[in-house]
Amino acid sequence: MVNTPPSTPILILGGGVAGLAAAVDLARRGLACTLAEREPALGGRARDFCCKAVSACARCGACRLADLLAEAAARPQITIYTQALATSARPAEGHGWQVELAPAGPAAPLPIGPGQPLPGRVSLAAQAVILAVGPQPFDPAGKSSLGYGRVPGVISALELEARLVQGAWEQRPAPAKLAFIQCVGSRDQSLGRLWCSRVCCGYALRLARLLKASRPDMDIAFFHMDVQDYGRAWEEELAGLRREMRFVRAMPGEVAAGAGGPEVVFALAEGKQMREAFDLVVLSQGLGPPAGAGALAQMFGLARTQDGFLGRAEEPVAAGAAGVFVAGACQGPRSLTESIDHAGLAAAAAAAYVASTKGAGRG
Ligand SMILES: Cc1cc2nc3c(=O)[nH]c(=O)nc-3n(C[C@H](O)[C@H](O)[C@H](O)COP(=O)(O)OP(=O)(O)OC[C@H]3O[C@@H](n4cnc5c(N)ncnc54)[C@H](O)[C@@H]3O)c2cc1C
Ligand code: SF4
Ligand code: SF4
Repeated sequence: MVNTPPSTPILILGGGVAGLAAAVDLARRGLACTLAEREPALGGRARDFCCKAVSACARCGACRLADLLAEAAARPQITIYTQALATSARPAEGHGWQVELAPAGPAAPLPIGPGQPLPGRVSLAAQAVILAVGPQPFDPAGKSSLGYGRVPGVISALELEARLVQGAWEQRPAPAKLAFIQCVGSRDQSLGRLWCSRVCCGYALRLARLLKASRPDMDIAFFHMDVQDYGRAWEEELAGLRREMRFVRAMPGEVAAGAGGPEVVFALAEGKQMREAFDLVVLSQGLGPPAGAGALAQMFGLARTQDGFLGRAEEPVAAGAAGVFVAGACQGPRSLTESIDHAGLAAAAAAAYVASTKGAGRG
């Protein structure tokens, strides 16, 4: 069934922090918008992140989600559909876009937070569209030499966080010896993924500090090329972290199964080959272009960056098609706070576009 075609000044695809921040920004300007999220709940990746504070706030940015959700729910200008997917789009008469939305799977039995599941197929006329569909974390199985899915005791950083959230080590002892391997799926010529994902050094170090707080004698090795700046005061923090764990400047070539746990094979700067066993090896996966980047780019006739993210690297919020804008980490690796700020720019550009096309022909 196709519902009566509604219209909206601005349609936002994606309800992570960037989509929510764009919606809230537009609402504060008095502009109505419709936010369509694919999943049953809003929040995107930030929904999975726990607080990383140990003795003080670790500035991970995760708690900004709660404020955005509360404001998006309270603003009458924002209509929220969950479990909604754009299936096609075409330029509308004059200007703007006609976008077909379809339910993404059967409706969840109970609402999870703000928004309602898309009630059926909807054809929506939008004067402008903001794409805020987020990045795709690298699947560590794509770097087979590091043993993910093959060697017991090798997990991804996101899986480590899930174990922490589930209280995995409250009942049984936490691992005594743990390795983080950085830049998995980033800065890697062999995978054709040359970019730095920018957030994974800070993410891994915050996780490491949280683990150390629960088990201070834990031996943690941090295998890295270099440590990416992860915000204010990081240099002072880094000095402290260097006292708490081993920073090993080497990129392991292999993780192999060993009798005492996964073994990391690496070369020291002077060329000496090393092999060291750990209880747990954590792969710090990077960020890549959104999973559906190709389909979305085709649907809206969008440009893509050299690395495959949506839009143009040199024009931060322009997507390469009239009336379409990009927000957050679907345009390139960004932290939560950076994605929120970027969404503010996208909302301002979309609002200006809508104002400029009032009474005009196709822009
Ligand atoms: C391993 C890892 C660690 C990280 N660590 C940190 C950290 O410590 N600190 C930090 O600040 N940042 C961190 N980040 C980055 C952070 O996750 C991003 O900055 C943030 O999630 C970007 O927000 P977003 O809204 O652009 O994307 P997302 O959070 O990914 O949200 C995108 C939303 O769009 C929805 N969506 C996708 N496709 C469609 C579609 N076609 N139609 C409708 N909806 C769609 C998704 O379901 C999702 O809800 C990390 C990321 C990863 C992967
Ligand atoms: S920013 Fe992160 S570490 Fe700080 S209080 Fe919020 S969730 Fe916790
Ligand atoms: S942020 Fe750190 S781990 Fe991530 S790609 Fe950049 S250097 Fe590598």
